[in-house]
Amino acid sequence: MREGWVRGLEDSYRQVHLDFHTSPLIPDVAADFNPEEFADTLSRAFVNSVTVFAKCHHGMSYYDTRIGVKHPSLRIDLLREMVDACHRRGIRVAAYYSVCWDSYIGEEHPEWLQIDRSGVPVRPKPFERPYYSWETLCLNTPYVDYVETQVREVLSGYDVDGVFLDIVVQRRPGCLCRFCRSSMDRLGMNYAVEEDLRRHSRMIEERFMARMWRLVREIRPNATLFFNGASSLNMARLAERYLTHFEIESLPTGPWGYYHFPLYARYLRNFGKPIVGMTGRFHLSWGDFGGLKPSAQLVYEAARIMAHGAAVSIGDQMHPRGRLDEAVYNTIGEAYKVVRRVEGLMHGSEPVYEASILALPRSRSADAYVFQEGGFGIDDSLAGAVKILLEDKIQFNVIDNLMDFDRYSLLIIPDFGLLDDDSRKRIAEYLSGGGRVIFSYKACLEEGGFKLPGIDLTFIDSERFDVDFIQVGSKLSEDIPPGFDIAMYGSGVYTGLSDGEVLAWVKEPYFKRSYRTYTSHTYTPACRVSGSPAIALSRDGKIMYIYSQIFAAYFRHGYWLYGRILRNCLGLMLRERLVQPTLPPTSEVYLWRRMGSLILHLMNYQSMRIGRHPEYITEYTSYSTLRPRVRVPREPRRVYNYMSGEDLRYSFSDGVVELVLEEPGIYEVAVLEDVF
Ligand SMILES: [Zn+2]
Repeated sequence: MREGWVRGLEDSYRQVHLDFHTSPLIPDVAADFNPEEFADTLSRAFVNSVTVFAKCHHGMSYYDTRIGVKHPSLRIDLLREMVDACHRRGIRVAAYYSVCWDSYIGEEHPEWLQIDRSGVPVRPKPFERPYYSWETLCLNTPYVDYVETQVREVLSGYDVDGVFLDIVVQRRPGCLCRFCRSSMDRLGMNYAVEEDLRRHSRMIEERFMARMWRLVREIRPNATLFFNGASSLNMARLAERYLTHFEIESLPTGPWGYYHFPLYARYLRNFGKPIVGMTGRFHLSWGDFGGLKPSAQLVYEAARIMAHGAAVSIGDQMHPRGRLDEAVYNTIGEAYKVVRRVEGLMHGSEPVYEASILALPRSRSADAYVFQEGGFGIDDSLAGAVKILLEDKIQFNVIDNLMDFDRYSLLIIPDFGLLDDDSRKRIAEYLSGGGRVIFSYKACLEEGGFKLPGIDLTFIDSERFDVDFIQVGSKLSEDIPPGFDIAMYGSGVYTGLSDGEVLAWVKEPYFKRSYRTYTSHTYTPACRVSGSPAIALSRDGKIMYIYSQIFAAYFRHGYWLYGRILRNCLGLMLRERLVQPTLPPTSEVYLWRRMGSLILHLMNYQSMRIGRHPEYITEYTSYSTLRPRVRVPREPRRVYNYMSGEDLRYSFSDGVVELVLEEPGIYEVAVLEDVF
């Protein structure tokens, strides 16, 4: 039985995900492990939940398993000692188990590996071991019985509060191992057809998740369960009924960048389950033992996760000898000091929003959200929309086509997405109820026509040139150099607008760059105004169309003039703002409502982020004053700084509060009392 009080997930805002992938070649696993020191180090860093290892990607187990392979140099039951020591200090413990990646089983049972469409097992090539490459087992083989037996051992033998099942993924489009081929035959599916492979992959994944869900409910009904791989647009709806919460693996300095987490946090929060947002202490990403973030950076990341309403999980990897690194936990402690101060305010809070990104399906496939860029669920168009909305301080959600549209004044459909008949009908109702839409490029474009109701736009062609230009008209000209032709890298869609207003025109270059027709180094300059709108507005002003992949382009190139164009478009389509755009673009504002109060979270990032490349805050210098301007239903009774408890100066006029924040830090929280 438990020796201490253990927190549930909803109270565990300060987590550590403790990686421990350890080769059997390492001779001294846990040689220096001291359970009291281990739990003490976590406690001193204010950690109140930790995910520790039952089995790693090498296939090594860290507990006394009957069926699996315990790490050959491990002399103790590491899992038990960790669980018990943490529980004695009231720290919640979840057990990590690597599912599809298991090098040991992959070697022992090559017939259980996933097989790709060229007949090759999914595993590293014999003379290579690139980063993050592992033997990948198929969830449709007897391997799953092995997994189930081990998970059962952990759940019944250890007092764990949850299970984290990692890498629950059939490689797309699908596996062609002999088990999969015969099950597809039985199901009447054709493994030569890509869509059948995708449907089969989803069936296998779902069957696995259902089986694990039943197992956990049977043995430990109160334990949490999460499948890593489920927190994506492509998988969330399939997986949500088999998990207790969503964790968003999103190390900003790894392959995910800074726009992945807000995208998925704002999407997954619509499912009504708790969310855990994961970052890492590393300079790069997982397994970067000697990589450590500056504490300013980790404070920023942890506070940003919490201010999205998610519990924070900081990824670490323990040294094989079993000691947690003091320097790492000093840094984590700095971040969790801030989280601990504010987390109580998140309980019972509801996000406030005015707009939403509408992520429409990208294909009619069962895998409806497979993004061009592939991997990690990052899509340049969605990420670009997140980037501009954060910079412009717009309060927004991210939704799919099955979620409610009516709560938002503005929907943004960035660059791509297919509209089915039902969504088309719902958008028409949304528009007639006063809603507005911005869409761009090939969003809602199918079979040579735009399916979005309410705008008379005819498709002509696309990608006529490699680069063309935007010439903006007076309504979109704010802060744009007059008369300057703005290059649109990548060209766009040429259309005809039969009824409505053209707000910007496409300018064409002399010719498309080719072997024969070229001029200068890069692309051909502008030469004539085309008859196609670059930005068009429907007659009733409710729908705006932008001809290029401007959201993706803004994310890829970070070109400041794309930001200006988008800001001006948003200014036209969302006039009455909750937060007036008076703050620097490097700051972010998230509004939450808690009973009668409005909570304003202000994040300050000093170096400008350009697309994928992460910059670091190595030293923070404060602004002298920031003056957020927020629209509220009525004058607040009191406005104060939540962290210091001190009253903030403010003024109130025309329904807008202007707060005065002197020398703001990386993270500030203001409470506007009694405004609702
Ligand atoms: Zn298979």
